[in-house]
Amino acid sequence: MLPNPKAFVSSHKFVEGINNKIIDMNQHTWDEIREQLRGQLSGHIFRSFVEPVQAGTFDSKKLSLSFPDRFTQENFEKKCSGALREILLRGQLDNIEINYDIREPVQQDLLVYASVPENNPFDPKYTFETFVVGSSNQFAHAACQAVTKQPGRCYNPLFIFGGAGLGKTHLLKAIGLELFHSRKELKVLYLTSETFTNEVIQAIRVDRMREFRDKYRTGCDVLLLDDVHFFAGKERTQEEFFYTFNYLHESRKQIVITSDRYPKDIQGLENRLQTRFEWGLVCDVQPPEMETRIAILKNKADHDQIPLSDSVAQYIASHVTSNIRELEGALHRLEAYASLVGVPISPELAQQTLRDLAPKTKHEITAEAVLKLVALHFGIRTTDIKSDKRIRRLSVPRQICMYLLRKLLVMSYPAIGKFLGGKDHTTVLHAVTKIAGQLKSDTELLNHVATIESLLR
Ligand code: ADP
Ligand code: MG
Repeated sequence: MLPNPKAFVSSHKFVEGINNKIIDMNQHTWDEIREQLRGQLSGHIFRSFVEPVQAGTFDSKKLSLSFPDRFTQENFEKKCSGALREILLRGQLDNIEINYDIREPVQQDLLVYASVPENNPFDPKYTFETFVVGSSNQFAHAACQAVTKQPGRCYNPLFIFGGAGLGKTHLLKAIGLELFHSRKELKVLYLTSETFTNEVIQAIRVDRMREFRDKYRTGCDVLLLDDVHFFAGKERTQEEFFYTFNYLHESRKQIVITSDRYPKDIQGLENRLQTRFEWGLVCDVQPPEMETRIAILKNKADHDQIPLSDSVAQYIASHVTSNIRELEGALHRLEAYASLVGVPISPELAQQTLRDLAPKTKHEITAEAVLKLVALHFGIRTTDIKSDKRIRRLSVPRQICMYLLRKLLVMSYPAIGKFLGGKDHTTVLHAVTKIAGQLKSDTELLNHVATIESLLR
């Protein structure tokens, strides 16, 4: 039942109303009724269940209200229809029959709200094929694959939890990519909980709650929500997500959620959400066991064409045990170091680079480590950074190095100058100020600096 504006006009009738005055039973009337409802209901109920209502066809006997979804309709009937009856009674319209229906999404809406671009939004790096399966993650892996076979039919929601760097995002995106290829007709939405939160804030700010809701109702068949623990303590976001969840779940649209914890362990998450997250299937990803870690390293090395012997893989896998992101990081550092210094990758080199370049705490950051990492990151030599060569390929890393020494070690400008091959302190001051200024707007630069910093910590 599309809200067709033409039907609207043609069924426009007049009914007898208060004091036998003829009431023009049209949109205007509905607007008035709605204003009265606003006065009688709590703001929250009104916004959630009355605001989305559109008055459809009118005639002297019937008031047709159309709803964006069943959830809104049912709640309207439960929580608002009493007040509506009263208002109609007061206006002597009590013999009017109220009809409820759910409007079908208008094609135009889909175009406006469809969030899936023409191009594949999913990174081809994250697939089921590149995901190494071991006993630590096979359950989650199997559940995710099952979901792609029959979205919305088997486990809904599917909830995956586990520590950082254990492959949750990888699995979530693998579902997205797989569906993108196998079920082109489905609108698959991947988003982080942070994005969802920001969208809620924005929607409130510009008073666009309805559009926001429609986006997840008419514009989404599969919702992949990453890192839901981010919702902790954010009540308004949780409330909004509660409606979105209910709607999608009732319409049998697939929901997959990840978190760093089991639903009941997420402090500051509403009980009703915790409960719902357990409705389908909850499974975890654990730190990978030794064999899986080695297999992941070998796969990565193959993919990136890094020559990696068994003994080196063994060495890394036995030292980096709890986080696959760090495992990959260790391999890349080793590779970068080997190619930079021009030596083959060996267990000794692994030992050296993993010790030098991965200080465990902030306090262990040294000027030497900053210098080395900046050089590694940009694929240049430390002597290049200390040199006076003015080419951009070297001068930018040099300035970043100065900036980081100042920021992380709070070294004085003359000390930084001295450390980097005897530069004047005004040169250092200029560099630090320049980088700090550019970081405010230059995202590429920001990425470089953030990456180096994250490796240092
Ligand atoms: P999480 O979201 O759990 O913090 P990610 O999914 O971002 O972790 O994984 C971190 C990195 O480790 C990614 O580059 C991912 O591709 C890789 N990774 C994680 N698990 C596996 C696995 N089982 N096989 C291969 N790569 C993996
Ligand atoms: Mg993640």
